[in-house]
Amino acid sequence: MAVQTSATAAPSAAGTGAVDLGSASGLSCRECGERFDLGPVFACEVCFGPLEVAYDLPTGDPEGLRKRIENGPENIWRYAPLLPVPADVASKPNLNPGWTKLVQADNLARELGIEPGKLHVKDDSGNPTHSFKDRVVAQALEAARAFGYTTLSCSSTGNLAGAVGAAAARAGFRSCVFIPSDLEQGKVVMAAVYGGELVGIEGNYDDVNRFCSELIGDPAGEGWGFVNVNLRPYYGEGSKTLAYEICEQLGWRIPDQIVIPIASGSQLTKIDKGIQELIRLGLVEDRPYKIFGAQAEGCSPVSAAFKAGQDVVRPQKPDTIAKSLAIGNPADGPYVLDICRRTGGAVEDVTDAEIVDAIKLLARTEGVFTETAGGVTLGVAKKLVEAGAIDPSLTTVVVNTGDGLKTLDAVEPTTGMTAVIRPNLDSFREAGLA
Ligand SMILES: *Cc1c(COP(=O)(O)O)cnc(C)c1O
Ligand SMILES: [Zn+2]
Repeated sequence: MAVQTSATAAPSAAGTGAVDLGSASGLSCRECGERFDLGPVFACEVCFGPLEVAYDLPTGDPEGLRKRIENGPENIWRYAPLLPVPADVASKPNLNPGWTKLVQADNLARELGIEPGKLHVKDDSGNPTHSFKDRVVAQALEAARAFGYTTLSCSSTGNLAGAVGAAAARAGFRSCVFIPSDLEQGKVVMAAVYGGELVGIEGNYDDVNRFCSELIGDPAGEGWGFVNVNLRPYYGEGSKTLAYEICEQLGWRIPDQIVIPIASGSQLTKIDKGIQELIRLGLVEDRPYKIFGAQAEGCSPVSAAFKAGQDVVRPQKPDTIAKSLAIGNPADGPYVLDICRRTGGAVEDVTDAEIVDAIKLLARTEGVFTETAGGVTLGVAKKLVEAGAIDPSLTTVVVNTGDGLKTLDAVEPTTGMTAVIRPNLDSFREAGLA
């Protein structure tokens, strides 16, 4: 029997034991280890700890598995044997995100004082809705299908709302998503254009999230799959594909250092989980790696706890241009602290001005236009190189999770036309451009 920890009874398959989610064998509590059947549950009945997907991983034949992956589709489904999805997932209507570029960033490396060939940017702005969120939504969609949901929902800082709207449109689900009402225009338009319902909430993300938890417990939310709430264990697994791709693109090798932005902290924890799985499967050599977390100073609860040497993350009221990372009470904060400390990494934060500088630095050096979250990540990477925490002689991957076209406001005040001239050569020369 699947255990229900809330009133969100799924309409059909849940609890029948007939759920086919590939090699996923159940859910396990991250705190006490208690096991549960696969179902739309997210908190442990025993201790209220978060649940995560457990697997019977195909450990027997690493060479065979590697070949199978390499011959798979150029999207996240090449890793289907390691994800909570049915074997025939690639044939279902889904946005098929992933297999984004790993850019060798030599120009940027030169500016940062990193050795040539050692710095890479994993550019997830190349996903269908231009953020890494397509990866996590793709998993949640398959779980929603398996559990018989027909409405997809979420609480979002912007990118998730767009990713859910698009995936629902493609898969024929209804969608109704919730965002803080003061988001960037680019995020609002991107979330609305796919035709689902988009609800602005007067408040910050933490208010939106609280509202969604209430809705889940109410008959009004019955039959709704909230991708980052009651489907959160499945949703989170999508971020593992970032780790898989980075390692595969480096020739099945774990990078020495990875810099990852933190909102709820889910992505960072699952990238670590993905690396651990690759080691266990024998697909990469087991070697030390360091994970670094990045926050904006105006929303830096995890960074503050890291610097203070504390295990508890004290909630903050966010005030930053990095709205996609503006979660003042991050669910996975304590796990992020564990991972960054265990691997010998760190959590650091940067100011809004440093975020804007980093956005422009990446654009100017590598032709990659990132959103404010990417400015946070690169800004923190730069700061950590300068502080000596990131070793410039080792391989470093900076994860760019979003697209600058969605946060034009951040750079608009300090960018623009070099000159406006009349359409003749004299005018061109007068402007000093010849
Ligand atoms: C959501 C988001 C993140 C981080 O999300 P987590 O909640 O920490 O998994 C990072 N970058 C962008 C652009 C995002 O939208
Ligand atoms: Zn538990």
